[in-house]
Amino acid sequence: MKIAILTSGGDSAGMNAVVRAVVKAAILKGCEAWIVREGYEGLVRGNAEAESSPTYAPPSATHHSDFPLAATNIINNLRFGDGELLKDGTGDYASGRTLKGRYIVRVGWDDVRGWFTEGGTLIGTARSKEFRTQEGRLAAAYNMVKEGIDALVVCGGDGSLTGADVFRSEWPQLVAELRAKGKISEAQAQTHSHLKIVGLVGSIDNDMSMTDLTIGAPTALHRICEAIDNINSTAFSHSRAFVIEVMGRHCGWLALLAGVAGGADFLFIPEQPPKSQPWEDEMCAAIHRHRELGKRKTLVIVAEGAHDIDLKPIKAEYVKDILAERLGLDTRVTTLGHTQRGGRPCAMDRILPTLQGFKAVDAILEANPETPSYMIGIQENKITMVPLMEAVAMTKEVSTAIEKKDFEKAMRLRDPEFRESLEGFVTTSTLSTDKQLPASKRMRIAIMHMGAPAGGMNAATRAAVRYCLSRGHTPLAIHNGFRGLLDDDLEELSWLRVDSWMARGGSELGTNRTLPSVDLGTVAAKFQEHSFHAVLMIGGFEAFSALQLMEEGRKHYPAFHIPMVHLPATISNNVPMTEYSLGSDTSLNALVEACDAIKQSASASRNRVFVVETQGGKCGYIATMGALAVGACLVYTPEDGMNLDLLKRDVRFLKARYKLDVKGKSEGRLVIRNEVASTVYTTDVITRMFKEEGGALFDSRSASLGHTLQGGIPSPMDRARAVRLSLKCMAFVERHHELLQQQPQKGRVAAPETAAVITIQDSSIKWVPVQEMVQHADTKNRRGKTSWWADMKELVEALVARPQLTALS
Ligand code: ATP
Repeated sequence: MKIAILTSGGDSAGMNAVVRAVVKAAILKGCEAWIVREGYEGLVRGNAEAESSPTYAPPSATHHSDFPLAATNIINNLRFGDGELLKDGTGDYASGRTLKGRYIVRVGWDDVRGWFTEGGTLIGTARSKEFRTQEGRLAAAYNMVKEGIDALVVCGGDGSLTGADVFRSEWPQLVAELRAKGKISEAQAQTHSHLKIVGLVGSIDNDMSMTDLTIGAPTALHRICEAIDNINSTAFSHSRAFVIEVMGRHCGWLALLAGVAGGADFLFIPEQPPKSQPWEDEMCAAIHRHRELGKRKTLVIVAEGAHDIDLKPIKAEYVKDILAERLGLDTRVTTLGHTQRGGRPCAMDRILPTLQGFKAVDAILEANPETPSYMIGIQENKITMVPLMEAVAMTKEVSTAIEKKDFEKAMRLRDPEFRESLEGFVTTSTLSTDKQLPASKRMRIAIMHMGAPAGGMNAATRAAVRYCLSRGHTPLAIHNGFRGLLDDDLEELSWLRVDSWMARGGSELGTNRTLPSVDLGTVAAKFQEHSFHAVLMIGGFEAFSALQLMEEGRKHYPAFHIPMVHLPATISNNVPMTEYSLGSDTSLNALVEACDAIKQSASASRNRVFVVETQGGKCGYIATMGALAVGACLVYTPEDGMNLDLLKRDVRFLKARYKLDVKGKSEGRLVIRNEVASTVYTTDVITRMFKEEGGALFDSRSASLGHTLQGGIPSPMDRARAVRLSLKCMAFVERHHELLQQQPQKGRVAAPETAAVITIQDSSIKWVPVQEMVQHADTKNRRGKTSWWADMKELVEALVARPQLTALS
């Protein structure tokens, strides 16, 4: 089968990763991979007659007839050279090869190498007027049949996917018309009687229904948050207000998440305009309150499509005038514009498109004339296939609801995470006393950090503190974990004190690995002395162990009969039963950044294998997902261990791989090794082994990422997750405190479920009592007994054809 991919509509980071994944998956499944340049416009234009076949030949299959079938297909599809032309532009080259006049181009395995570190789309995108017409689509159909394309993968927004569905439903008539006009033969008409189409959503707005995340949205959020972080420092210096306009015509996801992650004071999104009219009063009152407290900077985020409840547009310039005139603030407007689209894709925009690209090829291979066109998405952390037109129709429903001023419906149509983020924003951004509890229900809540620092710990603390203050609770920070508690190193945190913590890495409270077992009795006494009504522990495996110890300690110490929660935060992501811990996304992004630089250096030396050592303790999450995000060719984890046979096989693979490289055009390759994958085959040992065995083919160097993986500034995803989870923790302790209060004060017994860990399972938030979690923990190795990401290693190896190429040598 010949599978073609095109990118259409507005470009987004991650589109190249989709193309790379589709090309590789197609070849692995024994198909030919083709790309269509310039979106639908390229389909309409097709290949000029004289240019339709490449002037150079792929390697011949007969040379490889001894090899296993799968390997033969990879070698036959190794390189057609067009990837290079696409990467460098399409101008004339010394070789005379050019893409001029060719829009439907065959590509090979190595043609898409290294693509996924690039932003935008290397195969070009366009908005094609002609494709909207029947003649345009007829020309497109002709060009596809002429080149023998059987299936099309389209990556674009809702418009592009609608176009895909129109094309597919019209296909039989288009083929009949081409046959009737004598433009194609009967045999061609028969072979191409049905078109297989699959859609992937590439859009920075995250505006598609039936998928939790669109390709490019996480990177756009990164760009916005980088800009906000930069603006925050200048705003603070001059005590200015900034109004920032971000993209999003019908969808406020970017504005909302940027508002949450950037610690904005006020925000405007299309789905939920300010409820009161005139909204100017509400905004000014909120910002005035913050300024009165002593806040030196003001940040307002406006989505491109923001409006008031009467659908009158709210523009950044107008907001600026209001702030300047009414509050006398020195106010500036920054429109981020196209900076939001571009740049290096973040880790999520490499991993997600890769998984989705593979799924798209599976969907193509499974499709038949009776099945609908599918859209590949992600829901609850699982790659999904949903009927494309259903998703498009549901997406349009949101815009219709907004047009009809039915904002409640518009919000209902967004996923629960969106709604929770908005609630989270309101709670953490605005100082308000509307929701204060009666004095009898107010608590003294202890907050502490445990274990190693992880991105998002401070953001979670900020959210908890602000929630506490909005309800009348007292937030008590314990500095330096249990050691600090024993030394009475406590501080009551204020609303303003935590204001800038959103973007801060590390741990503002100070953290260490000391467990309460250091002196459980004194810890309990301190709980009593400081009258804690609840405890929030933010940290990794230590926090889980501490919670377990205190829950067991309830047998002896009444002070522990209070709600106690653990919010997982660790770059290792080794807390059992949760898919994500705070810090794991920041850490993956730190790894991606470092590895991109290392790979560049390795590629400059042409034939270098870099062995990169990662942290992660006995959990291979960061190594495995990192390998997937940076395109590493091998990954070593503690779960799978290392042995001599494995290393021999890997050396054979590396040799086979380097032998296939075009002379003088070898590239650097990465091997990711978790720091404790083996005590014998250390990073140093395998680096030297690869160097020795590589001979003239390749040499080897090592790099240890060490503590850089803790990341400097937390990623937007970690910040947003921190707020969402932290507020859930607060609601949890509040609920259980109220239940406990119904018991007589003396001899109060907290049920086991009041000592719990907040987890993310299938994107939903679930509370797991620590007693239950213990059963799922591999305590010796400090990780869960199972891990959802274990299969990803196979994908890392598939992407470099490790099994097939190892069989060659
Ligand atoms: P973005 O989210 O960036 O706007 P999009 O995919 O929604 O991306 P559009 O401009 O709406 O962008 O669509 C891209 C292209 O898809 C159009 O230029 C057109 O060629 C094709 N297309 C869109 N709608 C249709 C349609 N109803 N019929 C045929 N083709 C269409």
